[in-house]
Amino acid sequence: MAKILGIIGGGQLGMMIAEAAKKMPEEISKIIVLDPTKNCPAVQAGTDQIIADFKDRDAIIELANKSDIITYEIESGDSNVLKSVEKNAEINPSPETLKIIQDKFLQKLFLSQNDIPVSEFIQIESLEDVKEGLKEFGFPAMLKARRDAYDGRGNFKINSEDEIQTAYDYFKGQSLLLEKFVPFTMEVSVIAARNTKGQIKTFPLVENIHEENILRETIAPARVSEKVTKKAEMIAEKTMSVLKGAGIFGIEMFVTSDEDIMINEIAPRVHNSGHHTLQSSVTSQFEQHLRAIMGLELGETKLLHNTIMYNVLGEPGFTGKYDLPYIAENGVFLKMYGKEISKPLRKLGHVNVVGKNGESVDELLEKLRGLKQKMTVKSSD
Ligand code: ATP
Ligand code: MG
Repeated sequence: MAKILGIIGGGQLGMMIAEAAKKMPEEISKIIVLDPTKNCPAVQAGTDQIIADFKDRDAIIELANKSDIITYEIESGDSNVLKSVEKNAEINPSPETLKIIQDKFLQKLFLSQNDIPVSEFIQIESLEDVKEGLKEFGFPAMLKARRDAYDGRGNFKINSEDEIQTAYDYFKGQSLLLEKFVPFTMEVSVIAARNTKGQIKTFPLVENIHEENILRETIAPARVSEKVTKKAEMIAEKTMSVLKGAGIFGIEMFVTSDEDIMINEIAPRVHNSGHHTLQSSVTSQFEQHLRAIMGLELGETKLLHNTIMYNVLGEPGFTGKYDLPYIAENGVFLKMYGKEISKPLRKLGHVNVVGKNGESVDELLEKLRGLKQKMTVKSSD
């Protein structure tokens, strides 16, 4: 029997999950999104909505009462509240898994206890702890909020002695951890899935380029040696084998100059660096996520075409209504998220430049260079 799907969070990730769900009418009969914003992106894909904060206990109870199965596009949900409604709806990934992953300290502890390589880190409870940690790690080092961080907003890179106090004050009493800085040569990620029956599949390794702490570009496949690819995929598989829970996990990693791999962090949800799969693979990460949480056989993950994903971001210094970019070119797929207002660096959409005719990554990068101007967000006034 077809099921009713509840999604916590109705931004672009929720929207693309909903769009994939609409293509599975035999499995999913209805989609309800919990999001505080009226006409949020997911609703524009034709879902019902409960308008409330993501952490609103009553709203989550209502969602669980109305749904058969619940998933989420954000990792900041209250895992205790989710746990308490498990009898009313199946929740994937499970609240236990969410609890570990949503706290960067617990997550790193979990990974290191399972012999999965991460940068050195310590828990921070006072300014003294930061100073002690810096003695050990040296400069620079990363001070991070344990919870509720995204797009680098929960990070402060401490470059020298005189930045310690400013960095500490920046977090205003939040729980913190300090990490040794990794002088990486590249950032890469693996989108991995486990279904409720334990089947695991990973998408090929991709390369991620950040600007201002925000993902700007993903290159599929990553431009690394066979050795690095193998190592990263092995680490991703090992991670999936110890981490319980069903769904898609975005595993972000650093590659070092001696071709070692360390995990930076894991997202318990579909991930921006997996958007290329909408055109580059038989199965998109969104469909794979649904297959995973519904206990269906996982789809094929092979990369069919080299693809570059480029995020359309709000321009710095501009807030307001904007003109939609327009691109009509072969092998170029623009996806806008239906957000009315642009804000500096807000994720408004993305474009996939797909090598349908066997183009190399370099050729696709060249093609993208010519398109970037068209994707600059401009005021519509
Ligand atoms: P996002 O939502 O973009 O994934 P986030 O807010 O959860 O980000 P992180 O992934 O922890 O933050 O860090 C953002 C970026 O900061 C990383 O992609 C990386 O470029 C840099 N960074 C984080 N930790 C380290 C580290 N220990 N050493 C070097 N660079 C780091
Ligand atoms: Mg990250």
